[in-house]
Amino acid sequence: MKESPASEGYGMLRGSPPPAFRTRVISALPPGAWALAGTRGPVLCGGGEASYLCGACDGVLAEHVQPYCVMGIVFKCPRCSALSQVVNGHPNGEPSSA
Ligand SMILES: [Zn+2]
Repeated sequence: MKESPASEGYGMLRGSPPPAFRTRVISALPPGAWALAGTRGPVLCGGGEASYLCGACDGVLAEHVQPYCVMGIVFKCPRCSALSQVVNGHPNGEPSSA
């Protein structure tokens, strides 16, 4: 593959994608809790550094959010309707490889 001189020194820089954490599927909403629901994912999008995936189908529930902002929040997955709760910033200890 031959590189053209025109492209030398130029290019799009792409940051690494935010770490994605899987949420924990719960069978029912805790008493008094609210669930964020949307018809299309992601339900929530912010200026943070983490993404959260549905614990059931791996659909993106929250993208680019701050972990402390979504702590304890229950999402209703727009894809599979499962209820998933963000149990902490790192539910599985480390980002999923997905
Ligand atoms: Zn789902």
